[in-house]
Amino acid sequence: MALLFGTAGVPKSSPSRDTASGIARVHELGLECMEIEFVRGVRMGMAKAREVRGVAESLGIALSVHAPYYINLNSPDREKLNASVQRILDSARIGSACGARDVVFHPGYYMKSSKENAYARVKEQLGQIVKTLEEESIDATLRPETTGKRSQLGSLEEVLRLSSELERVLPCVDFAHLYARTRGGANSYEAFAEMLAEIEATLGKEALRRMHIHASGINYNKGGERAHLVLRESKFNYRAMLRALKDYGVEGMLICESPNLEEDALLLKREYPLV
Ligand SMILES: [Zn+2]
Repeated sequence: MALLFGTAGVPKSSPSRDTASGIARVHELGLECMEIEFVRGVRMGMAKAREVRGVAESLGIALSVHAPYYINLNSPDREKLNASVQRILDSARIGSACGARDVVFHPGYYMKSSKENAYARVKEQLGQIVKTLEEESIDATLRPETTGKRSQLGSLEEVLRLSSELERVLPCVDFAHLYARTRGGANSYEAFAEMLAEIEATLGKEALRRMHIHASGINYNKGGERAHLVLRESKFNYRAMLRALKDYGVEGMLICESPNLEEDALLLKREYPLV
């Protein structure tokens, strides 16, 4: 494998908004992967998913899926909790039919819980999800994402701990979110290299060879992430990130979530060999 570059969802320049057209456009642009965004719900059916798989395989485009945004595995409300679990399961089921193994999601909010209690609840729910997927013989890797808002569970430490304590769980490392979460603290080559060293120390070298990464321009306020921006309009040091990824031999997928999607994905792909 290598480090593949792609977009979070269908490229802006795709002539049509459906997933298969998006994959074709990713291929035309010279990008290598795409994350299917189930932002407001998993609305794709099995037949469509198989069609998407065919298109992606024929063009050699790697896929991942992002579960719907509204997920809170620490919700005190039973119904909301069950709906969150279902959203992750459905994303994995349809993703798997699309040929995507990695299922990215935001684990949830601390709410009124202590960080430790929130972690324990999220871990328990994730453990159940892993069990269900195993029973259904779905070969998915669950990827809790490092989150940008300080009210959300999803520090690098939490995501690594979930990954080391549960089978079939590995991190989705969103470096822009970590920059925003630390309110600009994590924004140098040294900071990014330290994160990669921590991943290697916790999960082994193999984890660096199958990474799932998000990057974009971003800004922040007191609570962390404020908005995603175009890379060049943001202070997020993407060149330092790329250099650290290169030095650590990171392989896998790097998904660009900037508002201009493919333009920044192409910028990252172009800069990567030069950093
Ligand atoms: Zn995300």
